[in-house]
Amino acid sequence: MYLPPHDPHVDDPMRFKPLFRIHLMERKCATVECMYGHKGPHNGHIQIVKKDEFSTKCNQTDHHRMSGGRQEEFRTWLREEWGRTLEDIFHEHMQELILMKFIYTSQYDNCLTYRRIYLPPSSPDDLIQPGLFKGTYGSHGLEIVMLSFHGKKAKGTKITGDPNIPAGQQTVEIDLAHPLQLPDIENLRDFSELSRIVLEVQEQVRREEQEREQRQEGEEHSQQAASQPASPLGGGGGGEGAEGEETAAGAEGTTQDKAPASQPFVLPMGVISRNEDYPRTCRICFYGTGLIAGHGFTSPERTPGVFVLFDDDRFGFIWLELKSFSLYSRIKVSFQNAQAPSREAFDEMLKNIQSLAT
Ligand SMILES: [Zn+2]
Repeated sequence: MYLPPHDPHVDDPMRFKPLFRIHLMERKCATVECMYGHKGPHNGHIQIVKKDEFSTKCNQTDHHRMSGGRQEEFRTWLREEWGRTLEDIFHEHMQELILMKFIYTSQYDNCLTYRRIYLPPSSPDDLIQPGLFKGTYGSHGLEIVMLSFHGKKAKGTKITGDPNIPAGQQTVEIDLAHPLQLPDIENLRDFSELSRIVLEVQEQVRREEQEREQRQEGEEHSQQAASQPASPLGGGGGGEGAEGEETAAGAEGTTQDKAPASQPFVLPMGVISRNEDYPRTCRICFYGTGLIAGHGFTSPERTPGVFVLFDDDRFGFIWLELKSFSLYSRIKVSFQNAQAPSREAFDEMLKNIQSLAT
């Protein structure tokens, strides 16, 4: 199991914890041991369910229990997983969230089903190398997000979940066709100025989507017209098409401007960040949306935000409505045989993990 570093140190390496081990012996025999808990390896079981899927089971879950009961188990988990004590965490809401996570993860007692996930395919045109990142998520602590590129869009998919948004959902979506020009350094601290810029782009994106829909309707009309032999229609549709092409060309021109020289960056006043030592220069910013929801993934909603590219290994996202900031740092672990066999296989996997959660 790979665990993220302690919150909020996103640049620290991932931690590695064995959960079971297999002894291969002669005559194609093997024994399996569960390594969960603090009493050493004990009897376990692994079963291959179907292709790209297996399950683990512990046969001696009493080995996971501690003499001090649940209380001691929770405190030990908190110390290991968060590097903190309950007394450090003053915020009542945060205590609740952490307790929820403990109850959720410990209830399985190392009886888990594993499914294969692929790393995203990359192309030389990508803004940065796609892959896995550690990100700060306020009171939820650090979470794992997979960044992948899909033409004019980049997606951040949650690999770990929390009580609000489950794994598999798209936490951030970046609109690469809409770069944002941040205000000058002297106005960068002004939240309302940034907010105004972002909402303007949001309005522009909405207008472009409407135009695209109208154009598609227009094309459908003209296709219908074309299939009907003697109909002189199609003039209006052609006009809309020309206008649409112009917008598309304009958008393309902006993304082709390769990363400009780095510019100063500072978070606007009132925007909360888990760590104050985020980078103070950035390369480029884009308009994006971030997914927010109530506990149990109730009323999910995509809200406007700013994607900030710092360097090849770090990016950030300003959640405008939450007035909070997430900082993401690349996971530098080389996983073997984890590349998707094709782009289609990767897209299919993304769709599957998203539907598993809902
Ligand atoms: Zn066990």
